[in-house]
Amino acid sequence: MASIVAIANQKGGVGKTTSSVNLAASLAQMKRKVLLVDLDPQGNATMGSGIDKHDLNLSIYDELHGAEADKALVDAEAAGYELLGANADLTGAELDLPEIEHREFRLREALMPIRATYDYVIIDCPPALGLLTLNGLVAADSVIIPMQCEYYALEGLSALMETVERIRASFNPNLTVEGLIRTMYDPRNSLSREVSLQLVDHFGDRVYRTLVPRNIRLAEAPSYGKPVIDYDQHCIGAKAYLALAGELVGSRSQPLFNDDATGLAPEENGASNPLG
Ligand code: ATP
Ligand code: MG
Repeated sequence: MASIVAIANQKGGVGKTTSSVNLAASLAQMKRKVLLVDLDPQGNATMGSGIDKHDLNLSIYDELHGAEADKALVDAEAAGYELLGANADLTGAELDLPEIEHREFRLREALMPIRATYDYVIIDCPPALGLLTLNGLVAADSVIIPMQCEYYALEGLSALMETVERIRASFNPNLTVEGLIRTMYDPRNSLSREVSLQLVDHFGDRVYRTLVPRNIRLAEAPSYGKPVIDYDQHCIGAKAYLALAGELVGSRSQPLFNDDATGLAPEENGASNPLG
């Protein structure tokens, strides 16, 4: 049975889509069967997987409105996983879902018949705490929160944690916080190092040991419709997401990549060492 992981943070531009696409591709590279669900009307995860969002016959919008689950599946062949894509149609869902029965459970119900087919289902949530993200979190077993290592990183985090608590209380008692990813980390920037330390102070080993550095290859890859490991498998961004996928599947004892790649020792950059 698949582990369903929502990638969420209502803050915009923190690396949700980059993390979703590249974790999905890294897990696929590690021979896991993966479904990526694009739950954002921007359709960035769809485009970044090499699928043109304008060409979708059926999309996640149709899934949320009762289309048969496997009808909208697209093979993102080059990326190595299957995709439920999104485009601007999904904007309508925030407006019409409130009128629909079981509105919080639409994605959960859509995934039910197909989840056994996969090892991992990764859900890329939009930058809001609306009904779409709610559907993502109700469908998920756990949530991963990407945090950009900058001044306002922690702002809004309490609202997100409260939302997770509310969902646990009302809709999905099994929802857990899988972990926090530090994204766009720049070891030369003292603020970036400070925020990274603060996150570890607050959240301990819930913070993934792997830091995702600011890496131009990660920003370039989507314009080629490729996850970074297909674009430049040797770049530091590709290695970071492979290592994160390693942490996710629980092979923490053999990290493929660790804090050393930032050029700092773990104790300097504040990364916790779950191995002690
Ligand atoms: P939104 O809230 O709009 O959905 P998001 O949280 O999904 O945004 P991304 O789209 O993943 O964030 O990233 C925002 C921008 O930052 C993109 O242009 C992306 O290419 C770039 N980016 C993300 N992570 C990195 C990184 N580690 N290094 C360099 N650029 C990055
Ligand atoms: Mg996004």
